[in-house]
Amino acid sequence: MNGSAAGQSAVVQGAGPTGSLAALALARSGWQVKLHDPQDADALLGRRRAYALTHSSCELLQQLGLWRAVAPHCQPFDRLELLDQGSRCRTAFTAPDAVGWIVEHKGLQQELLAACRQHPGVQLHLGEPGPEAANDEQLTVIAEGGNSPSRDNLGIGFGGFRYRQGCLSAIVQLDHQCNPATAWEVFRPEGPLAVLPLGKGKTQIVWSAPRQRCEQRIQLSASAFLEQLNDALPEEVTTTALLDQPAWFPVDWRLATRLGRGSTLLCGESAHRCHPVGGQGLNLCWRDVATLARLAGDRRTTPRLLVRRYSQRRWLDLLGVLIATDLLVRLFSNRHRLLLPLRRFGISMLSCCSPLRRWSLNLATYGPKGMLLTTGWQQPNNQPS
Ligand SMILES: Cc1cc2nc3c(=O)[nH]c(=O)nc-3n(C[C@H](O)[C@H](O)[C@H](O)COP(=O)(O)OP(=O)(O)OC[C@H]3O[C@@H](n4cnc5c(N)ncnc54)[C@H](O)[C@@H]3O)c2cc1C
Repeated sequence: MNGSAAGQSAVVQGAGPTGSLAALALARSGWQVKLHDPQDADALLGRRRAYALTHSSCELLQQLGLWRAVAPHCQPFDRLELLDQGSRCRTAFTAPDAVGWIVEHKGLQQELLAACRQHPGVQLHLGEPGPEAANDEQLTVIAEGGNSPSRDNLGIGFGGFRYRQGCLSAIVQLDHQCNPATAWEVFRPEGPLAVLPLGKGKTQIVWSAPRQRCEQRIQLSASAFLEQLNDALPEEVTTTALLDQPAWFPVDWRLATRLGRGSTLLCGESAHRCHPVGGQGLNLCWRDVATLARLAGDRRTTPRLLVRRYSQRRWLDLLGVLIATDLLVRLFSNRHRLLLPLRRFGISMLSCCSPLRRWSLNLATYGPKGMLLTTGWQQPNNQPS
């Protein structure tokens, strides 16, 4: 992936987690990259959220030589408990090193921007508008998030729908008796509730529920909020303090009608948005970057050829994850009598069949490609690559 496309130039629009990683991936392949974002560094770092990273994201960070810098900000979890409150069935996924990692936005974004500043192939333009029009001779990567104006200017549609569920996020303190290295995905009739350990007993909750209920919950007093949260959580998890102001955001299912045009491609949430169930969002965005990184390393490629190949290679993963997350939400966010036996059967199968658990974890980690994997994950190491 190193130094093979010297002389090629690219503009990346959007310096969020997807755009800044895409800029680094291109620069490491020898491209000269201009990275633009209308927000300045303080605004980019100021978002309050945490991401669940899978092994596919960890492997990409390793390939780009970034894992060593990002790892200290990551909290590994070695157990993921899955509980269906409707059918009262549960199962657990475990891994000797980590099932995944939770990383807070600020630490991650800080390291990505620092790496961009240090790389001689990246020119960072924060707090400045991007170029007016795309230059056909160079590659343009649009990573402007879900409301991308450049995607709209290109006339590319962004079809889909808004869920009736919204998603509330908050950081809370766990009771000291709770296992701090266990993450939870709790399926509740109102929507999934994820518990993501941040270390030192802190945890991020991502709580899906009808939008009106999210709105009501963020206005509760801290004690009333914690009371409702503790009622919703499994008995093994108790929270004792609210550490920030809860916020909620709407959740969309959207997919761009095409992933590129000419020498311009769409990356990350500019191209797709899905429900946060299973923590797929940012990992899916970064698998876009992984594909871009592989194609950018081809010495004979041209921007137009790269865009064509990228578009062809991303569809299966994007459709697979978008459909799978939507099915999960529909299957579990209800008390439908006919669906309960199906849910019970599926979770019992997962509980008693470890190859099936491994297969589904591979699927959640690598998308449809994961179905074909028979080997385990790579062990992360802290050495620069
Ligand atoms: C309110 C909210 C809360 C969230 N909370 C969570 C959470 O708790 N956990 C989780 O896993 N996910 C969460 N998500 C989803 C997560 O933020 C996304 O998956 C992730 O940010 C996608 O990264 P991205 O880089 O593709 O887009 P973004 O992070 O949206 O970055 C897009 C960037 O493009 C820039 N931009 C916009 N227009 C232009 C332009 N014309 N030119 C150049 N740049 C432009 C923007 O300033 C922005 O910096 C949340 C999303 C939202 C909206």
